[in-house]
Amino acid sequence: MYLHSPSLTLSLPAISLWLLLAALTTAYKPLSDSFLRAIPSPDSVNIDKGPLLSPLLIPRVPGTPGQTTAQEHLHSFFTSNLPSWSLTWQNSTSTTPATGSAQIPFANLIAKREPPWTKPGEANLLTLVAHYDSKRLPQGFLGATDSAVPCAVLMYVAQVVDKYVSQMYEEMSELGEGGEVDMDMGVQILFLDGEEAFETWTDADSLYGARSLAETWFTQRNPAGQKFYKYRTPLSQISLFLLLDLLGAPSPMVPSYFPTTHWAYVALSSVESRLRSLNLLESSPTRNFLPDVNATMSGGPISDDHLPFIARGVETLHIIPHPFPAVWHTMKDDGAHLDMKVVRDWCKIVASFALEWLDMMEVWTEPEGSGKFLK
Ligand SMILES: [Zn+2]
Repeated sequence: MYLHSPSLTLSLPAISLWLLLAALTTAYKPLSDSFLRAIPSPDSVNIDKGPLLSPLLIPRVPGTPGQTTAQEHLHSFFTSNLPSWSLTWQNSTSTTPATGSAQIPFANLIAKREPPWTKPGEANLLTLVAHYDSKRLPQGFLGATDSAVPCAVLMYVAQVVDKYVSQMYEEMSELGEGGEVDMDMGVQILFLDGEEAFETWTDADSLYGARSLAETWFTQRNPAGQKFYKYRTPLSQISLFLLLDLLGAPSPMVPSYFPTTHWAYVALSSVESRLRSLNLLESSPTRNFLPDVNATMSGGPISDDHLPFIARGVETLHIIPHPFPAVWHTMKDDGAHLDMKVVRDWCKIVASFALEWLDMMEVWTEPEGSGKFLK
């Protein structure tokens, strides 16, 4: 990613209007304390014994064997652990300034879990995004925060939400409730390829996978003739494009970048605060990872995989620290320089937010004796 200089100015009336609109169009419900306590410990992301992250800590440059190894890891995680998710590769090729006339392959993996009663194009999709490629130079660069950790966080989140989403889909199917309202929600995870520049960041030398996917989904038409023909394209099914990048370094500070999704930022920030107050997070930062509740801390938007989507009207929440980690684009961005407490905390924060977004309190049963008045 790359820093832009122009600053983003927000006006309070604009924010209030968007808060109001957001409240009218979603059913966002916070998780109870007992639900937050039940979110499993993210041991699967640990470097030493956890299976999610360490296979990604290799160079993952498009067109090299490391790219294939990373693709196999992501794909086999879902086929082995989450067989209900549909998996699709979206492929493209491009020349790059570093590789002459060769067509370099880029492959985005789309992992999706939709209500079983919906037809293609009917569900709105919480869309969680990270890039799995790594930078070509310096040679041997591992990109632990950039973005192996965000990919591992999303694999963990998929596993956590799948349990409850499956329960909800089953209950709704049994009750015959599915498809009766035009609020069918699913979740998809995009593992994007070719985010990094091969030489120097330009519009043409960066975001190879994201540009191809956004263009494809913008022009593709969903089948007509559905009960609720709301979503004309796969792009319009994205309820929120939540992009994670550069996570895993100590003491991150993530500002709120966009007024139209500031309300979602506040929700994410508030679930972080609740997890901290319940002693469910491990790190002890001097301030929250997400402290920008008044939307005053952003120095301006940052170029990243969301750009081709924003350009086509997709609502984005960009979770990237500013300043960037000290190890950014250096050989020190490796496993040894990660703060694993911070990594595991991001897992819980993002998982909690995703469960809230997907309205999972609907399937939560309070444990005996932990009623509202005993908290
Ligand atoms: Zn990078």
